[in-house]
Amino acid sequence: MQPLLKGMTVAVLGGDARETVLAAALAARGAAVRTAGLPVAGPNPQPCPDADEALKGAHALILPVPGINERGELYSAYLQQPVVLTEELLAALPAGRPVFVGVARPHLKDMVRRAGLKLFELMGMDEVAVLNAVPSAEGAVQLAMEKLPVTIRGTRTLVLGYGRTGSVLARTLQALGAVVTVVARSPVQRAQAFTCGLDAADFAALPALVREALLIYNTVPAPVLDEAVLRHASKEALIIDLASAPGGIDSAAARRLGLQAMSAPGLPGKVAPKTAGEILAGVITRLLTEQLMR
Ligand code: NAP
Repeated sequence: MQPLLKGMTVAVLGGDARETVLAAALAARGAAVRTAGLPVAGPNPQPCPDADEALKGAHALILPVPGINERGELYSAYLQQPVVLTEELLAALPAGRPVFVGVARPHLKDMVRRAGLKLFELMGMDEVAVLNAVPSAEGAVQLAMEKLPVTIRGTRTLVLGYGRTGSVLARTLQALGAVVTVVARSPVQRAQAFTCGLDAADFAALPALVREALLIYNTVPAPVLDEAVLRHASKEALIIDLASAPGGIDSAAARRLGLQAMSAPGLPGKVAPKTAGEILAGVITRLLTEQLMR
C-alpha cells in the first residue's frame, strides 16, 4: 500500500470494530496512528492509556462514527470508563486541523467550531453514503433471510425510496430473484428503476401495493408508512425500516395492528465492520492527502 500519509500523526478515540480496521488501514498508508479505547497491539497503531496521550502531536482526530452521546461521552464498544470529549482535549490540536466523525450532535459541532478545528461529517458525504449502500443492502437482505420463512426469490417486495440506499437494495433483491416494486415520488427515480428492469410506482399506489407485499423496506426519512397505509399490510409481512430515526414507519400503529415491523439502524457497522472501516479509511485518506497538499 502506498505511504500516502507518511509524516502524519492521527489520533483515533473510541469506536468499535470499524475504527479498529480504520486505524490499521491508516497505519498501513504510512500515518503514525495513536489510539485510545481500541483493541490494538502496537507499535502502529499505538495504543495509548488515555485520550490526552493519544492526541499528542496529532495532525488529525478521528472520532467514532456515532460521535458523542448527550452527556458528551465518546461512543466506545471497548472502554469500561466513558471518556468525555471536552474542549480542553480538542485544544491539543492546532487550529484548522480536521476532526472526522460519522454524525455530529450540535454540542460536538459547537465544541469543534470553538476550538477552531475543521469538522468532517462522514455519513453526510455522498461518497460515503453511496459506498455504504452495499453493506446496508446486504444487511437488509440478511435480516429478511433470517426472519422470513420463505426465500427471497419469488417474494413480492417493496422498496420505498430510490436514493443511494434504496437503489442498491432494490437491485440486490432483484438479483436474488425477488419480485421488486420501487415506490418513489420522483418521476426520474421511477424512470431509473424502470430502466433497471424494476417495477416502479408513486406513493398513491402504496396501499394497494402494501396489500400484496410480503417484504417491505423503507428508506424514506419521512412518515410514509402511517396507520392508513399499514392497515393494508398482511400480518405475514415483514416490514423493515432502514431510514434513520425517527424513520418512516408509525411503529405504535404497527404494534396495534399486530404487524411484524422493525427498524434496522447502522447496518454497515453491524454486518460488515471491515468493509465499513475500509470505506471510512479510503475517504479519510483522500481528505487527509488533500490537507497535506495544501
Ligand atoms: P437518499 O439518497 O437521500 O434517498 C432517500 C430517498 O427517500 C429518495 O428516494 C428520496 O426522494 C426519498 N424521500 C425523501 N423524503 C421523502 C418524502 N418526504 N416523501 C417521499 N420520498 C422521500 O438517502 P439514503 O442515503 O438512501 O438514506 C436513506 C435513509 O436511510 C436515511 O435516513 C439514512 O440515514 C438511512 N440509512 C440507514 C442505513 C442503515 O444501516 N439502516 C444505511 C444507510 C442509510 P427524493 O430524491 O425525491 O427526495
